[in-house]
Amino acid sequence: MSQVSFENTAIAFKGKDNAALLNSYWLFRLIGNPTLVKLGGKMTNFALKINFPLGWAIKNNIFAQFCGGETIEECKQSADRLAQYGIGTILDYSVEGKEKESDFDATADEIIRTIAAAEGNQTIPFCVFKVTGVARFELLEKQNEVIRGHVQALTGADLGEWERVQDRVLRICQAAYDAQQRIFIDAEDSWIQDAIDALCHDMMEKFNHQAPIVYNTVQLYRHDRLEFLKNAHEWSRAKGLHYAVKLVRGAYMEKEAARALQMGYVNPIQPSKEATDRDFNSGVLYCLDNIQDMALCCGSHNEESSMLLAQWMEERGIAKNDPRVAFAQLFGMSDHISYNLADAGYQVVKYLPYGPIKEVMPYLLRRAQENTSVKGQTSRELSLILKERRRRKEIRD
Ligand SMILES: Cc1cc2nc3c(=O)[nH]c(=O)nc-3n(C[C@H](O)[C@H](O)[C@H](O)COP(=O)(O)OP(=O)(O)OC[C@H]3O[C@@H](n4cnc5c(N)ncnc54)[C@H](O)[C@@H]3O)c2cc1C
Repeated sequence: MSQVSFENTAIAFKGKDNAALLNSYWLFRLIGNPTLVKLGGKMTNFALKINFPLGWAIKNNIFAQFCGGETIEECKQSADRLAQYGIGTILDYSVEGKEKESDFDATADEIIRTIAAAEGNQTIPFCVFKVTGVARFELLEKQNEVIRGHVQALTGADLGEWERVQDRVLRICQAAYDAQQRIFIDAEDSWIQDAIDALCHDMMEKFNHQAPIVYNTVQLYRHDRLEFLKNAHEWSRAKGLHYAVKLVRGAYMEKEAARALQMGYVNPIQPSKEATDRDFNSGVLYCLDNIQDMALCCGSHNEESSMLLAQWMEERGIAKNDPRVAFAQLFGMSDHISYNLADAGYQVVKYLPYGPIKEVMPYLLRRAQENTSVKGQTSRELSLILKERRRRKEIRD
């Protein structure tokens, strides 16, 4: 049995002083209320639309809990604080929903700046980007249809636009390779994911010969992904590559189900949470058992999966700090997992989202909604904070 425990709140919250802990407590209490989150989300969106100066209020509260700042420079403080406790940072430029080519170029440039900030910097061991940050969603949908064989090929303006997308992805991955910096490509909606997987595999073919540089992301809430993972690994093995992968359960379950129902196709999501958990843990085990030519990042706030991974590493004699295995959580969430694993010597990283407040709002609202909708997430965060406040004798029973 692994020695690590997630119960130790003294370790979990050693990065927070009493005032910061109290702030987190109130924030999780507020976002634990679905009506408030719904109302707050609507009011915030409206206020930002009419340019109401709301920045200061957001920046000192929900933004401070879940984000590093508005710029790479502003993230430095949080990154240094995480590093103090042995936790790495992933600078996640969280601007979404852009449509213009100039915006996609600017996002690609910003991601390349995160790679430059990470180069030779031990506190930033991985980088990340979303393909929808550098490509128009509808174009990805079309390319996906091409890959599925429903449409022959992109033509005319679409073709030129697609070549520019490929070029941006190549520029980013080339920069990561030149800096010898590992980079995750996030997974998104299933109806654009074939296009993302294909782009990612092209990049792996270019850059993953000597070492795992480009990481794909596999969402195990899809019932076809465990098989996809195994096939992708077989493909990469035949080519003599390292198959690097971030495993996640998946973030867009409701959207996937709604679209499948509306369009009359089989829902790609597993029939139950248990089925998702089973495939997620099987995926983790598969990667560990093939670690000689794979690299794994376990992107999860699930205690059982994190504990199993630690235990399976120990059983297989894989060192806790083996660079091929990483645990990842989001900044501001599940510190009891991150800090306790890091304290025990495992490689732990946290996504640190950043960007202009207005642009990062969709990300923040998703976090708030997730903390109301994911069963038990808020109550777990709250009960851990309460436990620690009691331990510090901030409050009495
Ligand atoms: C570092 C990191 C990176 C991430 N990157 C991505 C990414 O690139 N793409 C992405 O999509 N998500 C990403 N996520 C989010 C992730 O997919 C999950 O939504 C989130 O982490 C919650 O799952 P969990 O493993 O933490 O644990 P849990 O809280 O145990 O699991 C909740 C998840 O289980 C699944 N689930 C819940 N109920 C059911 C049900 N009835 N039937 C089937 N499945 C169910 C859903 O996926 C749900 O999100 C990332 C998360 C982290 C921590």
